[in-house]
Amino acid sequence: QCRVVCPTGAISINTNMDPVWEALADPDTKVIAQIAPAVRVAVGDAFDLPQGENVMGKIVNVLHRMGFDEVFDTAYGADLTVIEESEEFLQRLASGENLPLFTSCCPGWVSYCEHRHPELAKHLSTTRSPMQMFGAVAREYYKDPANNEGKKILSVAIMPCTAKKGEILRDESKTDGIADIDYVLTTSELITMIKRSGLMFEDVELESSDMPFGIGSGAGVIFGASGGVTEAVMRRLADKHSRSEMETIRNSGVRGGEGIKEIVITYQDKEYKAAVVSGLANAEKLIQQIESGECNYDFIEVMACRRGCIMGGGQPVDAHSAGGEARAKGLYAADVNTQIKKSNENPLVQSLYDGLLKGKEHKLLHRNFNKPSQ
Ligand code: SF4
Repeated sequence: QCRVVCPTGAISINTNMDPVWEALADPDTKVIAQIAPAVRVAVGDAFDLPQGENVMGKIVNVLHRMGFDEVFDTAYGADLTVIEESEEFLQRLASGENLPLFTSCCPGWVSYCEHRHPELAKHLSTTRSPMQMFGAVAREYYKDPANNEGKKILSVAIMPCTAKKGEILRDESKTDGIADIDYVLTTSELITMIKRSGLMFEDVELESSDMPFGIGSGAGVIFGASGGVTEAVMRRLADKHSRSEMETIRNSGVRGGEGIKEIVITYQDKEYKAAVVSGLANAEKLIQQIESGECNYDFIEVMACRRGCIMGGGQPVDAHSAGGEARAKGLYAADVNTQIKKSNENPLVQSLYDGLLKGKEHKLLHRNFNKPSQ
């Protein structure tokens, strides 16, 4: 593992490209990758493609050519997160305990909450992040010799986020003492690797991600933009899945670049108050308002980066001047082109619950946040 050191000494970020290159060259290692939603609308920036263009198909193709054995979609893991988090939300509404429920898929926010507001840690959802759910499920799947083909498995997560490098090292990111993910590569590291490979990214054809974890619902894909988690949960809790119902949710105020958004979640004719927050300064502001009794909510989504993961610290910076608008549009367009809108209607996820996950839901999909990270 090497380090990229900022010339001013202000930051140093671990890079993980070298061990991944080594694994790709090793015939006895099967290297699998998952690609987070926000990555696919940012990579094109580095290759002069239109800002925000969804280049998932190209990423899959170049990763295969670079030697990755299987390339999957973290949106699949996001579907699992939506299902588990929605269930947890309903359970907390029924018991009245630990409300509001704070989302926990952003490690920047989780760490902030644990260190600055430990009194709120019990409000964090116990569901693992999409990356971690995916990692735990993939580890389980590859235990089967029919799937690992006698090879060592190296699990790589390609993320828009530097904080995800720390998330995989936490104790609760392990199952039976083994880390669910081996390495996190940021979008910027992926771009560097593509450039070093000599492949002409602009020219490669599109390829579909691999089965059995290659399909995510539209709800899983929009996770990359602030409000995406909440919109996905609203879809999950909606009775139906008609176009008009999805449109009502879309127009509820859950989308957009504002740092704090207030919305209403309707479930079985009852209304619940939710907030969507991006940026830690905005999270702090909302916490102060809640603690002073100025406002209260049942569900709060927090993302440490303004506008969410599309503007994560691991993304290329060129589009920052455009405020990430194009990237958000790219994700919402990907959702429009996906026939499955609700996480619980993803047939691959349903079959997972009926098979590999049976009896292991809590072990593989949840974690405990009460112990602060170091
Ligand atoms: Fe990482 Fe930022 Fe996304 Fe949080 S919002 S998961 S810190 S990229």
